[in-house]
Amino acid sequence: MNIVRHSSYKLFWKPKLGWTYAGLENLQKIDTIDKLTTAPFELGGIISSIRKKYIGASNSKITKNAQNALETVTDTAFAIDQLMIQAASTKEPVDSATITVQSMLKERMLWWMNKYGCLNTYDTKPEYRTMEVFISQGKKFEWIFDYINEIGLYANALPDGLLRMRPTEAINMQTRKEYTATEVNAVSKDDFAGYIRSLIIAGQTKFVTGTPNEPIPTNMQGALWLAADQALSNNVTFMRCANIYTPCMSLITIINDNYQQATCSKPCKEIAKEYNNV
Ligand SMILES: [Zn+2]
Repeated sequence: MNIVRHSSYKLFWKPKLGWTYAGLENLQKIDTIDKLTTAPFELGGIISSIRKKYIGASNSKITKNAQNALETVTDTAFAIDQLMIQAASTKEPVDSATITVQSMLKERMLWWMNKYGCLNTYDTKPEYRTMEVFISQGKKFEWIFDYINEIGLYANALPDGLLRMRPTEAINMQTRKEYTATEVNAVSKDDFAGYIRSLIIAGQTKFVTGTPNEPIPTNMQGALWLAADQALSNNVTFMRCANIYTPCMSLITIINDNYQQATCSKPCKEIAKEYNNV
């Protein structure tokens, strides 16, 4: 595996491309996917968090204003998709919903890239280094984030074998109609597992070469599909970092069924402590 990343990244405005990112400082090699276990789920989690209007639990005025602005957006997947594209292609938006989505995207996108690297190989054309491409690639991982969330911590609460999802895609055309008639916002776990499987196979077919025993990802996307496959095959479960205030988008791997609240880092521990004491 030979994928490179920069030490850090920045976002800047380019008239024809919209919000675009560039790598700063040194190029480093990412030699192993072992450090990417939570990366695909966190990437999907960014898009999912925006779709679910997850701003954070802080009581600041800015957060309240942002929350209010987003609440006015029609609660459909389509409206949020539109808003994300608008945020990526507007230099200085004037309406508060787009301003809010843009700031969420900027902050969370840079956080992810500074943690893991860029989604494309560095030598790709500038038009592939845009916020718009980041969104469309992040959306591919949104389903696996939602899926692992649903089958993870709360799996026992679903005796009927249905996941409380809101499928915006035809996961199983034949049975989806049945769900919507009897149980809005629900989908069978088996259908969803099958759909996730097909996404992983498609991603690996496109971005992974080598052999099943020695797979070689051709870029970051391939590495993410491999990491997602590995985590799902090993039944890995995650929980959110306990810093839900700023909020932190990190996922923490649950080891030995230890579900105690945990933070991903020292700064997050401090923030969680500070807010909890207020
Ligand atoms: Zn954290």
